[in-house]
Amino acid sequence: MKFGLLGFPVKHSISPWIHEQFMKKTGIAGTYELFETRPESLEERIKSWRKEEIDGFNVTIPFKQDIVPFLDKVEEEAKQIGAVNTVVNQNGEWKGYNTDGRGYYRSLVGSFPDLVPELSSVLLIGAGGAARGIYHVLVREGFQRVDITNRTLEKASRLVREEDENKKTTVLSLKQAEGNLSNYDVVIQTTSVGMEPSTEEIPISLDNLKRGTIVSDIVYKPLTTRFLTEGKKRGGVIHQGHAMLLYQAQYAFEIWTGKEAPLDSVLQQLEYRLRGN
Ligand code: NAP
Repeated sequence: MKFGLLGFPVKHSISPWIHEQFMKKTGIAGTYELFETRPESLEERIKSWRKEEIDGFNVTIPFKQDIVPFLDKVEEEAKQIGAVNTVVNQNGEWKGYNTDGRGYYRSLVGSFPDLVPELSSVLLIGAGGAARGIYHVLVREGFQRVDITNRTLEKASRLVREEDENKKTTVLSLKQAEGNLSNYDVVIQTTSVGMEPSTEEIPISLDNLKRGTIVSDIVYKPLTTRFLTEGKKRGGVIHQGHAMLLYQAQYAFEIWTGKEAPLDSVLQQLEYRLRGN
C-alpha cells in the first residue's frame, strides 16, 4: 500500500517512522513517504496522486483547509471542525477525516482512565488548527466546561460561535485565564509556544494552578515543555504531546487499512527517539 504526508515543511516529520511501525505490527506491506509540497504546487501533486492511486495520506500545515476542494467527500466531524488531516482513497473516491481531536482524546483517556468529563472543567489555551479538533471533541464528550483563551481573542470567539451549542464555554484573555486557573481540572496547551527552538517560552503563567490538575501540552518537541515543567512544580499531573501524535496516527492508519495497530512498545520507542537517542 502507498501512504504519505502532504505539507510544507515536512522534512523532519517522524510520521514515516510511526507508520512503518504500524505496518510491521499489522503485517501490511507498504510505504509512507514525505511529500514536501509548496502551496503553488498543490494542484500538481494532487493530479499525480490521482494517477498513481495513493491509498491514503495525511495533511498538515498549510493544507488542512486547502485540501477540501480536491476531495469527493468529507466526514461530518471534519466538516464541523473545518479542517482535514487524513484522506483515504476508497475505490477512487477521496474522503477526508480529521483525527486530531479524537487522537488527542484517546491519548488523554489512555493516560487518565478515571477522568469523568461531566465532572471536569477544562481550559483550552489556543484557537489554531489543532485546538479546533480538540475543542470539538471535548464539547462532544460532555465536559462540564470548556473555556478557551488565546492571544487573538477574536479567533477563539469565532471557534465558539461555530461550535458551542451547549453554552459551556467562556472566552478569556490570557490574563483572565491566569487569574482563574484554579477553577480547572484539566489545562490543555495547544499553541506553538514552547516548541523548539523557543523552549523557554510559556503561553500563560501557571502560578494559580490547583494541585492535582492535569496539565497537558500537545507540543512534543521538546517532549517535556517548559509549560509541563512549571505545571509539575506546582503539583500538576503532566500529559505529554507525543501520545496525541501516536493516537491520531493510529486512527488514520485504521481509516486507511481497517486495522487497529497496537501501540504497546511504539510509545516508549517514540519517547526514546524524541529525546534524541
Ligand atoms: P496554528 O493553527 O498555527 O495555531 C497556532 C496557535 O498558537 C494559535 O492559537 C496562535 O495564537 C498561538 N500562538 C502562536 N504564537 C504565539 C505566541 N507567540 N504567543 C501566544 N500564542 C501564540 O497551529 P496548530 O496546527 O494548531 O499547531 C499548534 C502546535 O501544536 C504546534 O506546535 C504543533 O506542532 C502542535 N501539534 C501537535 C500535534 C500532536 O499530535 N501532538 C498535532 C497537531 C499540532 P493566535 O491565534 O493569536 O495567532
